[in-house]
Amino acid sequence: MSNLPKCPKCNSEYTYEDGGMYICPECAHEWSADAPAENVEEKRVVKDAFGTVLNDGDSVTVIKDLKIKGSSSVVKGGTKVKNIRLVEGDHDIDCKIDGIGAMSLKSEFVKKA
Ligand SMILES: [Zn+2]
Repeated sequence: MSNLPKCPKCNSEYTYEDGGMYICPECAHEWSADAPAENVEEKRVVKDAFGTVLNDGDSVTVIKDLKIKGSSSVVKGGTKVKNIRLVEGDHDIDCKIDGIGAMSLKSEFVKKA
């Protein structure tokens, strides 16, 4: 039984396993045996210009004029964008803007609506 973890609370070595839980007899702390912290899936967090966390499906407002690559169009500051989709990369928001179409934005140039 040498592979039992020490109690994360009081560091006792006298822990035991019971029904998928580890139990410490010294401080009565119980914790799950099958949820080690390093296996917790790391969720990427995308934040707007003001540090508000953005989620898929959110509506945002563009906070400054943004020139669109490869076109003469500009997304004006104040433009509302509905139903954003978070993606990997430098431009971390996929969206569709009325009158312009599908495009990518950087989260640092939007504000959650
Ligand atoms: Zn303990």
